[in-house]
Amino acid sequence: MHRKTKIIATLGPATNSPDKVSKLVERGMNVARLNFSHGTHEDHETLYNIVRRVASDMATPIAIMQDIQGPKIRVGEFPDGEIVLATGSTVHLNPGGGLGDSQNICIAYLECVEMSVGGRVFLADGVIELEATEVGDDGVQANVIEGGVLLDHKGVSFPGAKTDLSAVTDRDIEDLEFGAKLGVDLVAASFVNSGADIRSVREIVGATPIIAKIETAFGYMNLDDILSEADGAMVARGDLGVELSLESVPWAQYEILHKANAAGKISITATEMLESMVTGPRPTRAEVADVYRSVLDGTDAVMLSAETAIGKYPTRAVKVMSSICMEAEQSPSFGRAKDISGLSVGAAFASATAEASVDTADRLGLNTIVAFTESGTTARLLAKYRPRADVYAFTPVDSTYRRMAIYGGIWPMHLDRVHSTDEMIASAESELLRRGLVEEGDGLVMVAGVPPNQLASTNLMKLHVVGSGDVLHPVSDT
Ligand code: PEP
Repeated sequence: MHRKTKIIATLGPATNSPDKVSKLVERGMNVARLNFSHGTHEDHETLYNIVRRVASDMATPIAIMQDIQGPKIRVGEFPDGEIVLATGSTVHLNPGGGLGDSQNICIAYLECVEMSVGGRVFLADGVIELEATEVGDDGVQANVIEGGVLLDHKGVSFPGAKTDLSAVTDRDIEDLEFGAKLGVDLVAASFVNSGADIRSVREIVGATPIIAKIETAFGYMNLDDILSEADGAMVARGDLGVELSLESVPWAQYEILHKANAAGKISITATEMLESMVTGPRPTRAEVADVYRSVLDGTDAVMLSAETAIGKYPTRAVKVMSSICMEAEQSPSFGRAKDISGLSVGAAFASATAEASVDTADRLGLNTIVAFTESGTTARLLAKYRPRADVYAFTPVDSTYRRMAIYGGIWPMHLDRVHSTDEMIASAESELLRRGLVEEGDGLVMVAGVPPNQLASTNLMKLHVVGSGDVLHPVSDT
């Protein structure tokens, strides 16, 4: 059996050569994340080309996800690249970019935040905490409640405060246009607060799937609206943990994954999953439990950030993640989300056929489901019913082949375009036999659309015995 939970690895200085990317793929990376909050377009283009070359050389489906920065508010710069804010000191926050010091910090877009006296300001992913004591046109005076070291460009959060910022900044537009030119497979949109924010991204990326990063209190509150427009949701626990409270993140995670799955959308859990492996060779028990739990919570994919981008043990982190996921998938609690009745909305035939196929494979103890798909929708729906069987999803469309790499439990396969259902079944069967993925006499469930080569046509479930030569032969009743 293959691992079902997919692994997203963020690329960066620790993983920026063909050799390192090949090792990540060997250990189990399914999706490469290009984090546009860091690096130049040139850096991203280099990484993009490396991934495409490695995937082609290794004949492995790897999706590339572009993660845009979004309207993240950041501090400016400091003469030595950092300052120390002492607990109990006072500091003035000035609107606009520029150079600051430990008494004056410049914050771009501060004027777009509705601050009030008593409001909290968190710097550097919540490490430093301030409390506003005066709010005026020239900025915010604040007490340092919890001090620490603050580096150039670190993020700033104003939990609960309204902001009047556009969902897509000028920089995001440039980045998205660049990503589209490269040909990225997925886009992750940061700091989205509503379905309208997703529509703003959609105007630029068109049909490329959009993952909504849920990392603000408003985004979490408007999850249903966001999911009605997005193709998936990521529990972006870094910023979400600052915006909510750390202790509310586990339930938020459960709810976000559950709702994304119930809507038939891609679900991702991210941030600090194996954080201690940035510097050490082994994860903590708590990290292992966290990854394991996210699989049981129903995540399609788990994400590594600093662990693979700048960590000392990037390939080891992927290997460890893979082992934990496989162990969790053996748990009796691993299974489909409780309420996935919403899947039939807009894809009634496809979701009913997918559900029947998974139930039939489970009932007959068959280890293989074969799907034929143009857009990947059939595979995405099959994934949501969490089959025990391995699912091989055949497609003649290159972008679908790569994109399906993120779907839980789905193994993308290439298929030349065929003209009849019999031809479809015969070519899939010979490819599976060639790769040693099935043997003569194995029973399979096949899911397809008739006639072939049409979008949204999934309407056929067929039971098939490998090597029977008769595509209409029933599964033997042994
Ligand atoms: C997060 O905040 O958890 C996240 C995934 O976003 P980023 O890595 O861009 O901060």
